Amino acid sequence: MSFESMISRRLGDPPACDKDAKALQFIEEMTQNADGVQQNVLAEILSRNAQTEYLKRFNLDGITDRETFKSVIPMVTYEDLQPLIQRIANGDRSPILSAHPISEFLTSSGTSAGERKLMPTIKEEWDRRQLLYSLLMPVMNLYVKGLDKGKGLYFLFVKTETKTPGGLLARPVLTSYYKSDHFKTRPYDPYNVYTSPNEAILCADSFQSMYTQMLCGLYERKEVLRVGAVFASGLLRAIRFLQLNWPQLTHDIRTGSLNPKVIDPSIQECMTRVLRPDPELADFVAKECVNENWEGIITRIWPNTKYLDVIVTGAMAQYIPTLDYYSGGLPLACTMYASSECYFGLNLKPMSKPSQVSYTIMPNMAYFEFLPHDPNSSGHARDLPPKLVDLVDVEIDKEYELVITTYAGLCRYQVGDILRVTGFHNSAPQFHFVRRKNVLLSIDSDKTDEGELQKAVENAIQLLHEFNTSVVEYASYADTKTIPGHYVIYWELLVKDPTNSPSEKVLNQCCLAMEESLNSVYRQCRVADNSIGPLEIRVVKSGTFEELMDYAISRGASINQYKVPRCVSFTPIMELLDSRVVSVHFSPSLPRWTPERRR
Ligand code: AMP
Repeated sequence: MSFESMISRRLGDPPACDKDAKALQFIEEMTQNADGVQQNVLAEILSRNAQTEYLKRFNLDGITDRETFKSVIPMVTYEDLQPLIQRIANGDRSPILSAHPISEFLTSSGTSAGERKLMPTIKEEWDRRQLLYSLLMPVMNLYVKGLDKGKGLYFLFVKTETKTPGGLLARPVLTSYYKSDHFKTRPYDPYNVYTSPNEAILCADSFQSMYTQMLCGLYERKEVLRVGAVFASGLLRAIRFLQLNWPQLTHDIRTGSLNPKVIDPSIQECMTRVLRPDPELADFVAKECVNENWEGIITRIWPNTKYLDVIVTGAMAQYIPTLDYYSGGLPLACTMYASSECYFGLNLKPMSKPSQVSYTIMPNMAYFEFLPHDPNSSGHARDLPPKLVDLVDVEIDKEYELVITTYAGLCRYQVGDILRVTGFHNSAPQFHFVRRKNVLLSIDSDKTDEGELQKAVENAIQLLHEFNTSVVEYASYADTKTIPGHYVIYWELLVKDPTNSPSEKVLNQCCLAMEESLNSVYRQCRVADNSIGPLEIRVVKSGTFEELMDYAISRGASINQYKVPRCVSFTPIMELLDSRVVSVHFSPSLPRWTPERRR
């Protein structure tokens, strides 16, 4: 069988060009020999990092085989590595985790003690990440034809960056990527042409950046073949932005001038090449936007869009109905699975429905192990050290937590993602992203766990003490019906002295007090990105949580084991809670946030 027919039999239609054929062949080679590649990756990581402080602790003495590695190196979490990471951040340049110099820190949206985790990285990691990026379009071209005949409207943003005390940059992985030469001076590729100019993507002011990207997207509306953002929440923010700003945008298109609020000189300079008066286009956009009904707005404004390129797996699945509404049900393509720690893999069937998306982990990216996860048990058998399974040995339908060993020096590091095996591509397993461990609430890139919510409630309760009032029970809910979405916390209060109950103002302040104690990613989304709205407290009638328990028991819950669900999403429960609401309160102002870390 020829290579082309082999690929088309396994993945889709034949490759679109030679470059694609090479990329697809690479995927085939890596996945056919997944175990051999994994073995080599581990040996390479262990031998090059043999003299690091971390590996020397375990007396590996240059041994690079799997069995020894597994028997001597422990599985760790970020908190275990934090003291070492802090030393690197403080300027210790000795080889602590990696033999290669740490080039910068990537700030994860996962937090530790309220602050973004700092992931050390090395320069050459970009080559690996770039390689994964280079596989995405060749796969997509197997399923969607003619993507070289137009452009992608992608809303891409950089975020603020800081320096650690030792002078290393700390910034999100995509900010690092967009600012790198890999992105800025990428060679022309007809399959990867964006409507957004680099100058707009690289502008740190989110209004100017979004405004310019939207304006360019409107000018080139007929050329746009795909519309995307990294996560679903980002694309919906862009739609909301259009709803709020179309009068000014159409004014600019009509007159060929640029909104005076866009003051970034490099954007102003590049927009002189884009701006032209086009009253017909302005009329068209205004007519569509003034219409109350925004159903299908994406395909009305960008009629040649073939699919939306956004991640809607995991926490982002909550946005699928809204995206369907605005796009008239266009396919949603989830192309890759990645993190600040490491880029993991890609979706070989990017046109599959979100609920059926599986990611194939590329065995060359890092050394991958899997901790069996029993969804029905809260922990693992005590005393027995957990047994990690290798990439090629995972079993279909089982759930695992991902554990990685990276070139940058993370060894047997628990990422915190729970994955389920759905099948194999050659010998490489494919995974459905089930969820992130311990995440209760998420709107954008924020992740709030049960402990953080509990702490936030406790802090807010302080304000109720002088009113002799306590919170009997609470539950939460991520409300994504509005854009931006926001956290809703249901409170049942016990007011011991009705003549001195907390006022409206005090309860509003409680909302703010909760926000103040949530982690820095939440506060950044609220303050800098505007991607989360004010936190809401809904006070429910006394006795509501008992009714909730009665309801759960009527559906078969055990009285002994019943626990108040700290996050609710099941419609009948939310209907019950909402029908008992006596007052609603919103955070009156923004919580504090600065790019500087508190620790
Ligand atoms: P960060 O470290 O902030 O870049 O976040 C990485 C995390 O985002 C991963 O560990 C996952 O929990 C989540 N994530 C990344 N890609 C996907 C995806 N395709 N589907 C679902 N969740 C994802």
